[in-house]
Amino acid sequence: MQSASNILILHDLKQNMVQVFHTKEALNRQLLPHRKKHENIGLVPTMGALHTGHISLINAALQACEVVVVSIFVNPTQFNNNADLDAYPRSLDSDIKLLEQECASCIVFAPETTEIYPNGLKTEHFKFGELAAQMEGKYRSGHFDGVGTVLKRLFDIVQPDKAFFGEKDYQQLLIVKKLITLTEQAVEIIGCPINREENGLAKSSRNKRLTAKEQEQASFIYTSLQQVKRDFGTKSAEEITKWVEQAFKEHPLLDLEYFEIANAESLLSIDKNTKNPDKKYRAFIAAYANKVRLIDNIALN
Ligand code: AMP
Repeated sequence: MQSASNILILHDLKQNMVQVFHTKEALNRQLLPHRKKHENIGLVPTMGALHTGHISLINAALQACEVVVVSIFVNPTQFNNNADLDAYPRSLDSDIKLLEQECASCIVFAPETTEIYPNGLKTEHFKFGELAAQMEGKYRSGHFDGVGTVLKRLFDIVQPDKAFFGEKDYQQLLIVKKLITLTEQAVEIIGCPINREENGLAKSSRNKRLTAKEQEQASFIYTSLQQVKRDFGTKSAEEITKWVEQAFKEHPLLDLEYFEIANAESLLSIDKNTKNPDKKYRAFIAAYANKVRLIDNIALN
């Protein structure tokens, strides 16, 4: 039989180590010994309000790298709407608790805005071309320049060997791959699958702003993407688009912002008459549930 003190020690051993740093200098002091040993450093950039979607990325990073840095930073320059930025959930203490419960040891980098933007909130402009011209780039003006600006800085600070991104933000994943070629930063970009609620709703920090009933209703985004997948190849892209637009018109909660079927590499829209595609396509949805903007996507073939 184990004594009470033994049980306590076993419990302590299970406690994962999460170290939190707020400045570049402190983070780099921590990373230096790992760099000297040529250990693989993985980076998982997040805006916090962590959920199991983020945890799945962190666990993928922990499998592939000796050291994992999770950045938690709500990046002002990628928001084109101040109300959305203000309403974005911030919860560093509970984020750290979740990491302690769910992940093996990791390093959190949670900088102040001035640490990332010492010269004010200036955004760099990147030549993302067609990749940034539609969907999130079209509806959120300047969004991807903001994403590029913050990631370029985070890559410079952390100097990761690999960085992990969710397919939930599929357009962002392709943009980040392009960023690496434009900036010639030596980071391997790894895409990870979408993590979902049981009802299919893609996990998102924004879901916290929905009631339980709204979360249930919002699962229609995924239900409709699944229907699109079933119809793809038998119905034309135009017929499918009409069906989606009508279904959202009739929906009691959701307002469709866009629906796109796009080439999975170029993100160019599919020709509306295409029925038997020979390339890989994905379907993308952005919709509002009241004031909360939700996005999701699915591989079609
Ligand atoms: P965010 O904190 O929303 O900026 O997301 C940080 C990273 O987590 C991004 O690479 C997202 O694509 C990824 N992510 C967010 N939600 C999910 C999810 N449900 N499944 C997988 N990855 C996700």
